[in-house]
Parts: sequence; C-alpha cells; structure tokens
Amino acid sequence: GLRQLGGELRFENVSFNYPGKPEPILDRVSFHVSAGEKLAIMGATGSGKSTLLNLIPRIFEATEGEIYVSGIGVKEWPLKDLRDTIGLVPQQSILFTGSILENLSWGDIEAQVDELEEAAKKAQIHESIDLFPQKYGTRVGQKGVNLSGGQKQRLSIARALVRKPSILILDDSTSALDVKTEMALWDALDGEEATMLVVTQKIRTAQGADKILLLDEGQVVGYGSHADL
Ligand code: ATP
Repeated sequence: GLRQLGGELRFENVSFNYPGKPEPILDRVSFHVSAGEKLAIMGATGSGKSTLLNLIPRIFEATEGEIYVSGIGVKEWPLKDLRDTIGLVPQQSILFTGSILENLSWGDIEAQVDELEEAAKKAQIHESIDLFPQKYGTRVGQKGVNLSGGQKQRLSIARALVRKPSILILDDSTSALDVKTEMALWDALDGEEATMLVVTQKIRTAQGADKILLLDEGQVVGYGSHADL
C-alpha cells in the first residue's frame, strides 16, 4: 500500500493563515526531506513550528502551495492512510484514561505485546514501566499513576512508534528529558527507517539532524546542514 512508499516530504511555497484570521502564519515555506533523513525545526515561540507540523497530516489545510508526502500531494492521500503513515507527537502529550498497554496499543486488544515493549524500549520508557508493580497494566490518567512530564513524553513517543510511521514528527517532545535519556533516545531512533521532523530549542539536538530549518514569523530564514548555517 501507500505506506510502503517511504517517508519523503516536500513543502512547496506553503502559506497558511488560520480561518478568519488575515495574518499569515506561514509564508511561502519550501523545504525537502529525503526518506530516512532527520530535519530539526527551530525558531522562536510563535514562529509557526507547530502550525507547519499540523499541515502535514491535514489537521489544517495549507492556504496556498502544496505539501507532498512520498511524492503524493497530501490532498490526494486518503486521510486515514495519510494519518497512519505520519506519527505526530504533539507538544502536550495526551494520554487516555486506561492502562499503559491500552495507551500504547490505541485500545487494540490484539496488539502484540512484544511490539509494544519494543517501542517502549526505543522510547526509553520500558524501564520506568517495569518498575511499576502492575507494569504495562498500570493505569494512567484519572485515578491512575502520576507520570512525570518526561515519562508522558516518552510514552507518547512510544505510542507513535508502535504504528511504525514512515514520518515521525516530534513537536518539542523531548523538552522534559535529561541529556542522558535524550541521547539514548536519539541513538535508538537512529536505527529507525522513518523520516524524522524534530522541533527543538536545543542546538545539540539540532546538530544531530541532517538538516535544520529555521523559522522566523512564518518565513524560512535558514535551511541547510548545521555546517552550512
Ligand atoms: P511554540 O514554540 O511556542 O510552540 P510555534 O513556533 O510552534 O510556537 P505556533 O504554535 O505554530 O508557533 O503558532 C504560530 C502563530 O499562530 C502564533 O501567533 C499563534 O498565536 C497562532 N496560532 C496558533 N494556533 C492558532 C489557532 N488555532 N488559531 C489562531 N491562531 C493560532
């Protein structure tokens, strides 16, 4: 199916304003990420990073320009296939009320437990889960255990990995991780085939990417490898 196409991503002159708001949030944004590459996205708060990410799985539609995933315009993709192939981890992780297992498996009771564990290991959350008395059966959310910000972020990343997305998008999803854990996470993700888009405030994280896209007030003001910029 379409998912086997690989995670190439292209923005061509993409502009966007929120419905009913005249001010452009993204202004003729163009860039290209080859399948399997890692792109770091940087820019001040409000520069349009999250908005840009949300256009890829069509949470919002670009006002002008085109976005291509695996060479196919996102408007041509069946929405479900598009969203299956894109793993978007939002800035604020949203966990359902239920067990860790349910959260990882999206409620799919037939999910293969070893695959969920493998994703949890890559996301550096397996060890924490293993320390809970009820392990993967531990309830989170209302009346469940209180997970730390970093644990929630890692669980959200694991949940995205379970679906084996061809494009994995992390919207500042490692902000609460300590340096050592974050390094271990990037090492584990380096072994993944997925294309990665990573919003980050950290130069060190951006240095590990193949390319960096720098946004300022919705415009691309820098684009290239760390050495280029
Ligand atoms: P941060 O680093 O703080 O997350 P960001 O670079 O991700 O910021 P966005 O969240 O994309 O920036 O926001 C870009 C601009 O769009 C901001 O001016 C914001 O106020 C505006 N904006 C975001 N979401 C909406 C919305 N749903 N409706 C209207 N305006 C919005």
